[in-house]
Formats: sequence, structure tokens, C-alpha cells
Amino acid sequence: MKKNKINVVVATTNVGKLQEIRDILKDYDIVSVADVGFSDDVEETGQTFMENALLKARTVCKAVGLPTIGDDSGLCVDALGGAPGIFSARYSGQGVPSNRQLLLKNLLGVENRTAHFNCAVALVFPDGREYTAEGQTYGVITEEESCGGNGFGYDCLFYSNDLGKTFAEATAEEKHTVSHRGRALQNLLVKLED
Ligand code: IMP
Repeated sequence: MKKNKINVVVATTNVGKLQEIRDILKDYDIVSVADVGFSDDVEETGQTFMENALLKARTVCKAVGLPTIGDDSGLCVDALGGAPGIFSARYSGQGVPSNRQLLLKNLLGVENRTAHFNCAVALVFPDGREYTAEGQTYGVITEEESCGGNGFGYDCLFYSNDLGKTFAEATAEEKHTVSHRGRALQNLLVKLED
């Protein structure tokens, strides 16, 4: 039985993320922006993951009048000074496969390949209440893509320290237990249940 009969909207058009949030918050009724008829693009003008998460959640919540989760996440590579960071989705300007190729190119010959994913989540209610949380997960960028068929985005290039394999080689359940998004949402749930 679902804990929360009220629909919670997730302010994303990324189907990979939406599915992960549904899997992790399985006790809640999660609906997409499309389900509530919201089709505008929310421009990510924030300087931090949290500013962007709040921007998405506040914009959609105001438009549809339902509790809304905004999520902003990305990959931060130490040798690149934290890039692509908040620009992860727009790194190459030419879509996901090109983003991965550009990352590999920028790390060619680089020995230190340590990186982490960061995720900021914000839950905004129509009455103005706001809950926020973050999560990180650590690993290294592989020398080449190892796409096992699972995951999305940079998963083929991210070797998880926790799992001992890339996120693309992990099952969805394995990834959720250690992922930045899984950890951010668990932290959010703790705050909500308090
Ligand atoms: P945004 O949060 O919509 O700005 O997009 C974040 C971008 O970071 C995604 O488009 C992916 O490229 C990348 N990203 C975020 N989380 C993950 C993940 O769990 N796996 C792989 N890539 C991710």
C-alpha cells in the first residue's frame, strides 16, 4: 500500500531519472510532468546543483499546484576541476554519446581519473514548505565505455568504488543502493519523516 495518496510530481523530462526516482520512492505516487500537462522547459540558470533543483521544483509546483520534486545532478571529475558538474547534460552541446566521447577525450593520458556524481533534490509544496537534501557517490572514469545495457548518461564510464563495476553493468537495484540519487532521496525521506 502506498504511503502517500497525494501525487508527487517529478520535475524532469529525463526518463532514466524519472524511472530511478519511481524505483527509489516506491511507497509514493510519483507522476511525471507530462502526466500533469506541464510541457515548458525550465531553464537551468542556477550556479549550483541545489539552486537548479529548487528552480525546477518551484516552477513546476507553482504551475500545477501539486507537491513537486526537483532534481539536479551531474558528474564532477577531479582532474577537470569538477567539470562537467552542473553542465553535465550540456557538456558537448550534442547529446549524451558526444558528452561521453568529449569526457574521454579530455581525460586522454590523465592518470588521476577520480570522480563523483552529485545529486541535489528539493521537494516543494504548494503551501510553501520546502525540503532539500544532497547525495554523492564516488568512483573513477574508465578508459573506455563499458555499456552493459543498463543506466543512462555517463553510467558506461563510471566505475563505482562501492559496487566494483560500472553503473551500466549494475542492476537498477544495485545502483539505487549506492547512487547519488538514491542517497539524496533517502536523506530527503529522513527529513520528511522527522
Ligand atoms: P540534469 O540534472 O537534468 O541537469 O542532468 C544531469 C546530467 O548528468 C544527465 O543528463 C546525465 O548526463 C548526468 N547524470 C546525472 N545522474 C546520472 C546518473 O545516475 N548516471 C549517469 N549520468 C547521470
